[in-house]
Amino acid sequence: MAARRSPAPPAAGLAPGAAAPLSSLPGVGPRIAEKLAARGLQTLQDLWLQLPRGYEDRTALTPVRNLQPGVPAQVEGRVEAVERGFRYRPLLRVALGDASRATVVLRFFHFRAAQAAQFQPGVRVRAYGTPRPGQRGLEIVHPSYTILGEDDEGALGDRLDPVYPAVEGVGPARLKTLIAQALDRLPGDDILELLPPREPGLRGLPGLREALLTVHRPPRDVDLAALRAGTHPAQRRLALEELLAHHLSMRRQRMSRQSHAAAALADQRLVQQLRKQLPFALTAAQERVFAEVRADLARPVPMLRLVQGDVGSGKTVVAAMAALMAVADGRQAALMAPTELLAEQHLANLRAWLEPLGVGVAWLAGRVTGRARGRTLADVAEGRAQVVVGTHALMQEGVAFHDLALAIVDEQHRFGVHQRLALRDKGGEGGRVAHQLVMTATPIPRTLAMAAYADLDVSAIDELPPGRTPITTVVLAAGRRPELVERIRAACAEGRQAYWVCTIIDESDEVVAQAAQATWEGLSAALPELRVGLVHGRMKAAEKQAAMRAFKDGATQLLVATTVIEVGVDVPNASLMVIENAERLGLAQLHQLRGRVGRGSAASSCVLLYQPPLSRMARERLETMRETGDGFVIAEKDLELRGPGELLGTRQTGLASFRLADLERDADMLPLVQELGDRLLRDEPAVAARVVERWVGVAARYASA
Ligand code: ADP
Ligand code: MG
Repeated sequence: MAARRSPAPPAAGLAPGAAAPLSSLPGVGPRIAEKLAARGLQTLQDLWLQLPRGYEDRTALTPVRNLQPGVPAQVEGRVEAVERGFRYRPLLRVALGDASRATVVLRFFHFRAAQAAQFQPGVRVRAYGTPRPGQRGLEIVHPSYTILGEDDEGALGDRLDPVYPAVEGVGPARLKTLIAQALDRLPGDDILELLPPREPGLRGLPGLREALLTVHRPPRDVDLAALRAGTHPAQRRLALEELLAHHLSMRRQRMSRQSHAAAALADQRLVQQLRKQLPFALTAAQERVFAEVRADLARPVPMLRLVQGDVGSGKTVVAAMAALMAVADGRQAALMAPTELLAEQHLANLRAWLEPLGVGVAWLAGRVTGRARGRTLADVAEGRAQVVVGTHALMQEGVAFHDLALAIVDEQHRFGVHQRLALRDKGGEGGRVAHQLVMTATPIPRTLAMAAYADLDVSAIDELPPGRTPITTVVLAAGRRPELVERIRAACAEGRQAYWVCTIIDESDEVVAQAAQATWEGLSAALPELRVGLVHGRMKAAEKQAAMRAFKDGATQLLVATTVIEVGVDVPNASLMVIENAERLGLAQLHQLRGRVGRGSAASSCVLLYQPPLSRMARERLETMRETGDGFVIAEKDLELRGPGELLGTRQTGLASFRLADLERDADMLPLVQELGDRLLRDEPAVAARVVERWVGVAARYASA
């Protein structure tokens, strides 16, 4: 055990020695240090937190007779026979027998001559690996092994062997040694521990030092099942601190952003004018959320607000009103959407609402090029464009705003956090940053929202506009497709419109487009009296737009589409939707798609066609869709079925960068994380900084590089 050190307050916010460079370990020269640094391993502490990805149990010997295929085990015996040969590739086979009078074959494809020469008949060998059936009984391919001398006691270890994630250029044995050496210098909890010692939520969990040692060097009698599942108290202790570190990191980022100034926007005249023009009154939920937004905008501090609202809840008009607050103050607003189709629709809405008020709305997407682009850029830079709508093209370099006061981002989970920030950083004059409004139609369960959006305030539009009729959802096997065609014929004869959504899993845009094309041909032939439109991702923007417009205007009655129509598309007269191969889609996507109908006053239905047989998960998804239309219920179910990584779009949120925490598995600790986070930020900001530095510091150092 490491000697106790004097508890002097650590300088860099780390335990003494924690920040020591790896070159302080024996034998670590610049070459190895560089390889380790490439994986973010620079200090002793980085090695302490480099956790095993698995374990090997070498604390016991298994009689050869008891070996099971597929079950890793350690055996000890004597070499009975050796075969060296060359059949297509070099081959070394060593037959090892033990007192259980059974034989297992150790098999090597890569070996050095000296290595092969070690295996002489009669030599004692201890080997570890996973047996599998071979030509002559069980064999272990490339076992790890040691040759034991005649008088070797060959004492067995009393701890499991950790297996670490590979680091390129550093052999696994070397890495293991380095981590072990770093752990030998692990200080005591008087120095290491950052969490409040008497916190009741920590009851039953070990201190940090013990937790680290248990996870790196589990004792022989450890609950291995728990350890493998990641639920051992030692792991929970570490996961708690890691979750806390990420949470604090987001909240600190938020605080630092809020230390910037923003334009205070309070002029409501344009908003009042818009209200008078709207053909509807806002719902109570829209009013409440807009009031929250307005209160944020009125302050000279950047707003950071997420507006959650189910599909069709009417987020766009709230965004438009917020944009008008910026315009009324003589400044600019930008609205960014993840797809061109959705951005185009926002453009159409905003133009219809804002241009009658004399507000200029500009369009900036990737496909705007040449002179048109130059003109738009000049309008944006000189402030003639008061509201700018577009795709991520808005964030590109070369796009300079005259005075951007509000950045609105729709369907946020498709953008990365960094993209979100890039737009905000295009803020106005004099070091001001833009207010930020993020809109998402993917309801996120509360606990997850806390973890994923700790840097945002959250508002919810939890009510749909009146006059919407609930959507009836039917689940049908694909064999009943012909009946459906008749149903579409009947619906369209009554003046209704329908979507037919084609899906193909995991294929390129091109293959999906071909499938949609084929479906379009088939349906056009089956329904000669109908005008059938087609929209897919491979069409030019103008073609897509034309196809959408024709459908919206009623010129086409049936629209065959790929999932490009998923987000935001709004055609109130469409009241029937067929989704082919619905079993292949996730709940969130099905919910989004279904939200395209039920937008008008006609009773709507959604038919989920599936290809039998259904997997259990697929059946549950379809049943959930049939049973509920509530986005929050669906999100909870989605969480249950899929886990949060996928739900949040792991890559985008950066939540995947956990070392061992798992939002789903450890969800029960999130309230405690929140509470500890509040307390540390309020009472002990320096400790909060140390927690962040310990767990997220490396990632942050890299992100900023
Ligand atoms: P989403 O929240 O899915 O983005 P939209 O903003 O596209 O929803 O709104 C869906 C439809 O509802 C649009 O046609 C919009 O004009 C309409 N809408 C919005 N608010 C109301 C309201 N309060 N009453 C009636 N219709 C509304
Ligand atoms: Mg929308």
